[in-house]
Amino acid sequence: MEFLPSLEFAQSLDQQDQLKNFRNRFIIPEADGKQLVYFLGNSLGLQPKSANDYMQRILQDWASLGVESFFHAKEPWMDYHDKLTGTLATVVGARPAEVVVMNQLTVNLHLMLVSFYRPTAKRFRIICEAKAFPSDQYAFETHVRHHGFDPAEAVIEVSPREGEFTLRTEDILSTIDQYGHETALVLFGGINYYTGQAFDMQAIAAAANKAGARVGFDLAHAAGNIPLRLHDWNIDFACWCSYKYLNGGPGAIGGVFVHEKNFAEDLPRFAGWWGYDKPTRFKMDKGFKPMQGAEGWQLSTPPFLMYATLRASLEIVEQAGWDAIQSKGRLLNDYLWFMLKGVNDTVDPPAIQFITPSTAKDRGCQVSMLMKRRGREIYNYLMQHDFMVDWREPDVIRLAPAPLYNTFEEVWRFTDALEKAIGFDGYIA
Ligand SMILES: *Cc1c(COP(=O)(O)O)cnc(C)c1O
Repeated sequence: MEFLPSLEFAQSLDQQDQLKNFRNRFIIPEADGKQLVYFLGNSLGLQPKSANDYMQRILQDWASLGVESFFHAKEPWMDYHDKLTGTLATVVGARPAEVVVMNQLTVNLHLMLVSFYRPTAKRFRIICEAKAFPSDQYAFETHVRHHGFDPAEAVIEVSPREGEFTLRTEDILSTIDQYGHETALVLFGGINYYTGQAFDMQAIAAAANKAGARVGFDLAHAAGNIPLRLHDWNIDFACWCSYKYLNGGPGAIGGVFVHEKNFAEDLPRFAGWWGYDKPTRFKMDKGFKPMQGAEGWQLSTPPFLMYATLRASLEIVEQAGWDAIQSKGRLLNDYLWFMLKGVNDTVDPPAIQFITPSTAKDRGCQVSMLMKRRGREIYNYLMQHDFMVDWREPDVIRLAPAPLYNTFEEVWRFTDALEKAIGFDGYIA
């Protein structure tokens, strides 16, 4: 599509937007009665209005039926999990039995490492991205030590080349090629949280499979953001959190994918009663018998109040349609890039260095901008003018317009404010 830099053009895109009414399904933060421009859906997605209703239903069941709610509530708690996995399976490109909703991301990462990081003296390495999210780094380090290996030797980090910010796929693949025969696990983010780079998951999985290593992904910034085909890409496992692009609420209950090819194998795992074969769980027998599928990794009674908020959000995804959400996400962000480049072209030398790759297939909703001058002041100016974006040391502004509730006009107003902030010659506290 041919974009124009005018406000009228942005407004016309909003008018044509098939998802425009879905913004009303969310509570948009306000200051002094005015809606803020919220571009932080990559940190904490906004609250669906229906989240409160669904939580109230659980509270009312609890009040009126007590423990009987598990089986006799209007929507029995025992079956609540099944209301979540269908939509999630669509979002991550999995069969429903391959998806389970449980725990939180870091916990799930540990549980998956128990099953899929099985180092031997010959194959003990983990290949990952340099500067992965800290939780991921700590998980790798502590599992490696737990098995009696040295993280400095076992963890191979693929780094950007000198002077570059993002990884080249060829460098990832050649590292897998080089260390493959000694590698137990290849684990990358789907999208790096800092740079916004989307990795070529299909190519990484193919290389890992060829090398005879297990392969997993941390999809914190990818689930609900970009198209995923976890089953077809032949990935062993993946984990994600649901509070970023999936709008499941602060500390939302996380998700896990386990490829069905792994179901037959009796994988080692840390077990709990909630993962026990469902029909006979309440016999409380000795000897762990896992449920078939990804649900067999569950440990504990789920937090139903958190199921409720996630359900509210997934229902919106279902109604909007995952394909329509992705189409709008791409258009919204292509437009953002067009406008940002326009702003940068008005100043010489350029004020912004884009860390996120500009090619559409290598990114999702997020843009990370390294500000060349007065970064913190520009960030302060934006926050003072009702734009909620994210600041990362040193000098990086991150923003992520989300297709379900952000508009083209908001993108226009943001870039207009950014241009004013860059051109402003006073001091902005
Ligand atoms: C957000 C994020 C996390 C957070 O993990 P929690 O256990 O949900 O706190 C972990 N890994 C990555 C890559 C993330 O982006």
